[in-house]
Amino acid sequence: QIFLSSILMVFILYISLKFVLFLELVKWFEKVEQTTKRLEMIDILSELLGKLEHEEIPPTIYLTTGELGPKYDMIILGLQEKQVMKIISDLTGHSVAKIKERFDKLGDLGDLIYEMPSASEQTDLSSFLGLEQKTESQTILDIWNVLRRVGSIQGTGTEKEKINILTSVMRKLDRLERKYFVRILVGKMRIGAKDSTWLDAAAKFTHNVCAVEELDYAFAIQSDIGLVVQTLVKEGRTGVLALFNPNVGTPIMPMLPHRGASSSEIWDRMGGKCEIEIKYDGYRLQMHKQDKKVNLWSRNEESYDSIFPEIVNEISNVIDASTAILDGEVIAYDYEKDEMLNFQILTNRRRKYGVKQIMETINIKVYIFDLLYLDGKSTMNLPLPKRKALIQKILKPSTMISMAESISCNDPEDIDQQMMIAKDLKREGIMVKSIGDHSFYEPGKRSYLWLKYKADYQSSLADTFDLVIVGGWKGKGKRAGFYGTLLMAAWDPKEEVYRTFCRLGAGLTDEIMQNLTAKMEALKLNQKPSDVLSNLDPDIWVKPEIILEVSAAEISESPVHTVIDEEGRFLSLRFPRFTGNIRTDKNAPNDVTTLEEISTLINKK
Ligand code: ATP
Repeated sequence: QIFLSSILMVFILYISLKFVLFLELVKWFEKVEQTTKRLEMIDILSELLGKLEHEEIPPTIYLTTGELGPKYDMIILGLQEKQVMKIISDLTGHSVAKIKERFDKLGDLGDLIYEMPSASEQTDLSSFLGLEQKTESQTILDIWNVLRRVGSIQGTGTEKEKINILTSVMRKLDRLERKYFVRILVGKMRIGAKDSTWLDAAAKFTHNVCAVEELDYAFAIQSDIGLVVQTLVKEGRTGVLALFNPNVGTPIMPMLPHRGASSSEIWDRMGGKCEIEIKYDGYRLQMHKQDKKVNLWSRNEESYDSIFPEIVNEISNVIDASTAILDGEVIAYDYEKDEMLNFQILTNRRRKYGVKQIMETINIKVYIFDLLYLDGKSTMNLPLPKRKALIQKILKPSTMISMAESISCNDPEDIDQQMMIAKDLKREGIMVKSIGDHSFYEPGKRSYLWLKYKADYQSSLADTFDLVIVGGWKGKGKRAGFYGTLLMAAWDPKEEVYRTFCRLGAGLTDEIMQNLTAKMEALKLNQKPSDVLSNLDPDIWVKPEIILEVSAAEISESPVHTVIDEEGRFLSLRFPRFTGNIRTDKNAPNDVTTLEEISTLINKK
């Protein structure tokens, strides 16, 4: 027996020497949290990479960003703050009411568990009797595996099981570990490390063997930050270049357009080589086909397989290729009147339950406008006309799935004329796309090879912006109890910060306000997030996640807000109004309107 237990001890010692302990990792989390300087953060993360075994890299990266894997994996814990309070209560012996009261003051469950001793630990007697909690060393991989396991438990009535597993893990952790573990559970890591910070740290650690553009490209193709960094560290540049080849079934980050300000500006940018397409008013849809198997992805890597089963079926029949990845837009369609329907109607299709019934009332149509991969090869580096010719070759006739119409463009007037037609048909606008020799598909990028031109841009700045809620003020009178004024921010990708752009009250109905207030409470932070630049101090700060579409009359100079143009002027939106669209199909920060986009609007004035 002594022999066996010594072998076991040696084994445990080996594992704990080889693999990094979670306790060690949280000490790195602390270091990262204490700095607000991006360069320092990159240094710390790059040093951390040097401590990790290859298999520990993806878990560490995802834990630092508070996730359980790439977004398309769809493994999330799905725990509410209430449930985590219950775990803390079981663990510390304090009542949920007491925990709630303290939480209202602190605003962060991680800080709360760090500072709150367990009820039993408060008595000297229990420690005298040796009843205080003993911790048991956990490696990063131990923690990761448990979290992934809990994340993959799905369905109703599984809450108790999840809570039991998590409580028993927490028993093994010490205070500092619990602080960060709890933050991971509620999805609020708040240490400020983003995907791009990790890419920079990995580049630094590997002495820049790969250009940042190459890392960005691999990330756009694989949509998995853990994989890209791990590959770079393990296999160097050769490994990263191999990631340029897409995997059928894994979503690729879509290419996005910039805004065009006028027909002459668009024409100039395109060097006179472009064509026009309709800007369809629906959801972006990436379609992957491998033999009979089809996967559908939204623009933010959510699976649409169960939302649009009729498309899954039709794609497998009408695409004449063994493997293909296609890009397009799905819209609501009235087949009797042969008419496109608006976006609001389509949003009713985005549901988990009752898909069969809604399929009968809301019909859809797909317009394919691009091809990313065909029969084992990426097609992204072919010019657009070649990619389109290939689509024509492989798409069999279908009522539900058509190719987007390409309208030729011979001068700037063609652009204006198509815009007038779009306006008459009450469409949002048009897309102008380069057909030059270098008109490649640029995954994950907002590119000048595609320009959207919307009816609104022509007359005034009455345009829409996708802004993220960073805070809010409680309303008065009828609005008491709700956040009636919201602090909205745009994204500054250079500095990696959100900058406030307006206070928003107009357009918020009682129902929307109620809905948003609940969402904001769930994202509440006890202090201003470190990546928000603001001169204002709202009643609540929230994690920047909820994106609202906002229209406005114009952009003016502002003494208050922090959006800034190239000349150093601070700007804000005048007469902002919520359009009614909560953009759940978009993600912060990537889809939030950027300073550059705001600048293009000002410059055209
Ligand atoms: P907006 O805010 O201007 O309404 P948006 O919020 O949907 O547009 P943008 O990035 O501004 O997003 O515009 C790009 C989107 O336009 C694409 O993601 C796609 O869903 C949609 N789209 C519609 N028609 C086309 C087309 N012909 N080619 C490319 N994208 C198109």
